[in-house]
Amino acid sequence: MRLILGDQLNCRHLWFADKQKDVTYVMMEIMPEQLYVKHHIQKIVGFFLNMRHFALSLKQQGHHVIYFYLDSAENQQDFRANLIWLKQKLNIKKFEYQLPDELRLDETLKEIQKEFKESKVYDTHHFLTSRNEVKDFFKGKKQYLMENFYRYMRKKHHLLVDSQLNPTGGQWNFDADNRKKYDGKVPLKEPLIFKRDVTELVNLLEKMQVPYMGEINKKEFDYPVGRQEAFALLDYFCQELLPAFGTYEDAMLKEHVTLFHSRLSFVLNLKIISPNEIIQQVIKYWEHHQNSITIAQVEGFTRQVIGWREYMRGIYWAEMPGFKEKNFFNYNAPLPDWFWDGKVKMHCLKHCIANSLENAYAHHIQRLMVIGNFTLLAGIHPTEVDNWFLGVYTDAIEWVQITNTRGMSQFADGGIVGSKPYVSSANYIDKMSNYCKNCFYDKTKRYGNKACPFNSLYWNFYIEQEDKLKNNQRVSMMYKLLEKMEPTEKEKISEQAKKYLENLNSL
Ligand code: FAD
Ligand code: SF4
Repeated sequence: MRLILGDQLNCRHLWFADKQKDVTYVMMEIMPEQLYVKHHIQKIVGFFLNMRHFALSLKQQGHHVIYFYLDSAENQQDFRANLIWLKQKLNIKKFEYQLPDELRLDETLKEIQKEFKESKVYDTHHFLTSRNEVKDFFKGKKQYLMENFYRYMRKKHHLLVDSQLNPTGGQWNFDADNRKKYDGKVPLKEPLIFKRDVTELVNLLEKMQVPYMGEINKKEFDYPVGRQEAFALLDYFCQELLPAFGTYEDAMLKEHVTLFHSRLSFVLNLKIISPNEIIQQVIKYWEHHQNSITIAQVEGFTRQVIGWREYMRGIYWAEMPGFKEKNFFNYNAPLPDWFWDGKVKMHCLKHCIANSLENAYAHHIQRLMVIGNFTLLAGIHPTEVDNWFLGVYTDAIEWVQITNTRGMSQFADGGIVGSKPYVSSANYIDKMSNYCKNCFYDKTKRYGNKACPFNSLYWNFYIEQEDKLKNNQRVSMMYKLLEKMEPTEKEKISEQAKKYLENLNSL
């Protein structure tokens, strides 16, 4: 008996290379997986649709598959109970599974394994690194530095390097070219969406009273299902979006949700498509179109997939379970109510949260420099932040969500993932977006009537956290600026921040 988890939809796994008559594959939709946080309805639908599609294609290839639907009579809504029931029913001798990417499931499956006389665990053959590769790479080093790991990955996998392992284009990183505000020079493209009627599945979730957040268009579900649609999304990215991906990677626009981002994270995290397949195709496409696509675009994308994504996974396995408890600033405020409906006067947050609730998607800078920036400056408990981020996005699975949220975005790890907190005032948001135009708040004011909350909260953060941050070289400039600030100015900022912090729900 071989168990396939909902994020293990890799049809190229060696398991499926030949049909073995005595192997039963098991997949299951169970309630606890829908309940550990409140998930976005599009996330639940996206997972179930892809799981069902995967099971069906295995069956069509002649494999023996048992699939527990959420409302199947025999479904006991528990991995262990369902597997033990099958073990007895089918007289199963051997249990096999692929390494899960979440610690919680890793522990559960290790326990279940003990119930069987024989068992075997396989790698998922999805990632470019093993679970411990990041940990081993940084052994003995004071700090994890993504850039060092990224260069190692480029060399190890011969990606964008010459025969001497020098970087293509003469430099490893074109990050400095990835910071343009959208200037309208390159026309925007509509995202490729897959219109699918999912009424039946949504009705099932309602019948089973699965709690959820967000919205769904039951008649036109957007996300890809299966490998063919995943590759269609990748082709679309190469042809239409890659030429401007890097240039506008950090840009935000209230009229457009995805700009030049790929939206590949969902199919990637469910393992429908592999990072290697994506990177090979993107680089090949660029090689044939070098007259229209610069190296900065393709390098920027490669860095996200073989750099950040693999690095985050490695940090997860190096630092869990302790990582989940980290709260460097000892924050404990609850998430404001408007995180669940987007009804907030701050334009930037209104747009980014509404995006997230409508589409179960926000791009990196919206997650990091608007939503995460705010929760950090507002002193929200990192677990509250984690739970929201883990629920709202279709691509959110703990290994990649918690390292990005608690680590990169909230600095709750005290500097494991990143070397300084990602915070900003209105200045940065205005530089990278058009959100501030027509906002209820005034982006130029630190205090007083309608002063932008980001401004006072930003300075207040540095004032309040001086003990914890003043020795961090990467933010020393902020403390030099604070030293020069008039005491009355500081007082006014602190007063304004206090008012906002006491009234987060009314922002
Ligand atoms: P693109 O911009 O097109 O990038 C291409 C791919 O690179 C992505 O599909 C993704 O697989 C990878 N990638 C880019 N940045 C990262 C990163 N920092 N970490 C890991 N992979 C990266 N990503 C998730 O997959 N799941 C999450 O739950 C998640 N939560 C996040 C929470 C916060 C607070 C932040 C700041 C970032 C989070 N990210 C998460 C990373 C990133 O925002 C998303 O991967 C990206 O927005 C997905 O959209 P895309 O596919 O259009 O990405
Ligand atoms: Fe956001 Fe402040 Fe700009 Fe309004 S003024 S959009 S709150 S940064």
